[in-house]
Amino acid sequence: MSDHTAGPREVRAPRGSTLTTRGWQQEGALRMLLNNLDPEVAEHPDKLVVYGGTGKAARDWRSFEAITRTLTTLGQDETLLVQSGRPVGVMQTHEWAPRVLIANSNLVPDWANWEEFRRLESAGLTMYGQMTAGSWIYIGTQGILQGTYETFAAVAAKRFGGSLEGTITLTAGLGGMGGAQPLAVTMNGGVVICIDCDPSRIDRRIEHGYCDTRVDTLKAALDLAVEARDARRPLSIGLLGNAAELVPQLLAMDAPIDIVTDQTSAHDPLAYLPVGVAFEDMAEYARTKPAEFTDRARESMARHVEAMVGFQDKGAEVFDYGNSIRGEAQLAGYTRAFDFPGFVPAYIRPLFCEGKGPFRWAALSGDARDIAKTDKAVLDLFPENESLARWIKLAQEKVHFQGLPARICWLGYGERDKAGARFNDMVASGELAAPIVIGRDHLDCGSVASPYRETEGMLDGSDAIADWPLLNAMVNVASGASWVSIHHGGGVGIGRSIHAGQVTVADGTPLAGEKIRRVLTNDPGMGVIRHVDAGYDLAGEVADERGVRVPMREG
Ligand code: NAD
Repeated sequence: MSDHTAGPREVRAPRGSTLTTRGWQQEGALRMLLNNLDPEVAEHPDKLVVYGGTGKAARDWRSFEAITRTLTTLGQDETLLVQSGRPVGVMQTHEWAPRVLIANSNLVPDWANWEEFRRLESAGLTMYGQMTAGSWIYIGTQGILQGTYETFAAVAAKRFGGSLEGTITLTAGLGGMGGAQPLAVTMNGGVVICIDCDPSRIDRRIEHGYCDTRVDTLKAALDLAVEARDARRPLSIGLLGNAAELVPQLLAMDAPIDIVTDQTSAHDPLAYLPVGVAFEDMAEYARTKPAEFTDRARESMARHVEAMVGFQDKGAEVFDYGNSIRGEAQLAGYTRAFDFPGFVPAYIRPLFCEGKGPFRWAALSGDARDIAKTDKAVLDLFPENESLARWIKLAQEKVHFQGLPARICWLGYGERDKAGARFNDMVASGELAAPIVIGRDHLDCGSVASPYRETEGMLDGSDAIADWPLLNAMVNVASGASWVSIHHGGGVGIGRSIHAGQVTVADGTPLAGEKIRRVLTNDPGMGVIRHVDAGYDLAGEVADERGVRVPMREG
């Protein structure tokens, strides 16, 4: 079939229990690829961009058509190989092997910089896969909502007596991931001002129920924020403008800000709007003069980060939210960029020691009742986990599904396999209308090496050791995952991370049950052993209590 006329078209995953492929493992991959590009889910589906700057699901439309065509005919003993969004081969494997193996954006270390990446990208030889864009398990903004909610809950516990009531948070970036911030803060009882330079992003968050209101002036934002704070009423305010201008202005005004962070696309200097550039001119300027744009973006990030440090000097709680803005500001010559910590060492690492991370699942039926039933199953399985119960209740009230209905919650070692096995039983018994796909973010306890984020400040200094995500991918292949991916540069940008993902389809068969038991034990097990190896006592206790074998602790 010829497809050189392939071009943008609107796509949406099939729903229901009728296969459009030769098996549910392939069907899961096909539906999740299509779901990633559903206009309700993707930020810019016409460009195949799912989220996170230019994080794509397929390299170009021709590749997309070839992937979907191949998945439709792929056998139970075949594996499709995808190289940076382009399907490059089909190999005979076996039933336990993944149906798809994906490698995205990987470069030899000495070549791993944006300049070389862009050269290869514009030659059509690679694409930026982000984390869950090129690995087909993005579920919309909810995916990040729970992690963001937990992070702000940890901030509240650390500094504000367990709630953000009566506090004002200042942040920027209302894109695919950053758009979770306003709702995560209000779920914790706080008031938040979120700056974005793209009015359509603010409007989209309001439309999806993630942000309450939009204002276009600093004064209006501050007046609203102070009034709500004084009334101890949660409120999220989208403020139109450039963060590199407005954050320093707020500092100069001595604005009463308690918490400061940022989720603009700072990991990619071509996606951060420099001061003095109109938003409407940004794309063309970045395309035509990338080097000049990069210098100006970095200079602006330096001013932005300088103001964040200024807020910290005045006593605010300030943290980097995983977008590399400190690294970019440092490249522009700002020497105090790393004065505030990243969110992982500040709040998340103890969870990683227990193998906890962003477990997520989606209902291939398209039926929201399947998610309601799985929510209940998770609550029944872990009745003692109060924060899980609080999260599921809030999510049911506030989360608007995008694309296929889906849920996320953080579960640890010894928990994920139980949830997965229960879901598979529910598919087998007919309680659910169709199979469930179970995956996770690449931002997980044992699947990523990222010295500015997940592995920042490791106890033994092993921040940049990237063997762990490779072992993680290999163990998931060996354990029976349905598709497995190895990416470079997600989250924090090219040259700064290596990470792996897995997705496993619960199709109700005994074979899927066997695979799920192994994958969902071994995958979080990587988090436990990675942190045991780095010398975290908590991880050692978890390994001992829950029976994770670590040869160096035996004998
Ligand atoms: P995105 O590209 O969808 O959105 C970025 C937003 O920033 C856009 O809406 C853009 O208009 C805005 N923006 C750019 N420059 C700006 C400026 N100077 N002032 C104000 N607004 C500006 O990206 P995303 O998916 O939301 O991800 C945001 C960042 O967070 C990325 O760097 C990503 O890698 C990182 N991230 C962090 C986590 C985490 O767990 N903390 C997870 C995923 C992604």
